Amino acid sequence: MEILKVENLCKTYGKGEAKVNALKNVSFSLEKGEFAAVVGESGSGKSTLLNCIGALDTPTSGSIFIDGQNLFSMKEEKRTIYRRRNIGFIFQLVSELNVEQNIIFPLLLDYQKPDPKKVNEILNLLGLAERRYHLPRQLSGGQQQRVAIGRALITQPKLILADEPTGNLDSKNSQDVIDMLISASRHFKQTILMITHNNNLTSSVDRVFRVSDGILTDLGGTANEALS
Ligand code: ADP
Ligand code: MG
Repeated sequence: MEILKVENLCKTYGKGEAKVNALKNVSFSLEKGEFAAVVGESGSGKSTLLNCIGALDTPTSGSIFIDGQNLFSMKEEKRTIYRRRNIGFIFQLVSELNVEQNIIFPLLLDYQKPDPKKVNEILNLLGLAERRYHLPRQLSGGQQQRVAIGRALITQPKLILADEPTGNLDSKNSQDVIDMLISASRHFKQTILMITHNNNLTSSVDRVFRVSDGILTDLGGTANEALS
C-alpha cells in the first residue's frame, strides 16, 4: 500500500536574480511501513522537500498524495486537519510539560482523549516508562528525542517526518534514536521519512534517497556501498 507519492514536485523561491530552484521535478513513493532516509549537502533542498510533504510549505508545481489523498487539492482548512491527523512531525519538546504530557500534546491540540493503553505502549516501546513525570531538562539528549518520537507516534499518523532528529546528539545517542525509530517502524508498521546528514545512520534503514541541487536520486535499499 502506497502511503506517500510525490510527483514532479518543484519548488522555486524568490524571483529574478534571487531565484532559487530548491526542488526540481522530484518524484518518488513510499510503501506502508517503509523507513527511508534522505541525505545530501547543506542547501540541497532536503528541508524544502520535507516541509512540502508536511504541508508546512507550498509546492510551486507537482503533486503530493498521502494515502491517496492529494494534499494540495484540498482547501486549506481541510489540509490543516488532514495534516494534524495523518502526519507526525518530530519536533522539539515543550519544556514546561513532562514526558507524558509532551507525548499526548498533539491529541489535546485536536480535542481528542488519549488512550491510556496506547500511551503506556509507547512509553514502554521507547523505554520511557520510568521517566513519564520527568521534565525535558531532566533527560539526556537521546531521551528527549525519544519523547519527540513518542509524540509523533501517539496520533498513529500515516507518515512520520523527521528533519535531522539526531542533529545535536553524539554518536551513541544518535544510534539510540535511530534504533527507536526502527522499532517504531516495525512495531506499528509506521512509514517514516527522515533527513540525516550522517551517512553512518543510513545503514539500518530500508531505503536511501540523495538530494543534490534540488534533484532527488533513489539509492535503493541499504546503500552503504552507494554512499562510500
Ligand atoms: P537543506 O535542508 O538541504 O540544507 P533547504 O531545503 O533548507 O536545504 O534549502 C534549499 C535551497 O533553498 C537553499 O538554497 C536555500 O537557501 C533555499 N531556501 C530555503 N528556504 C527558503 C526560503 N524560505 N526563501 C528563499 N530561499 C530558501
Ligand atoms: Mg535542512
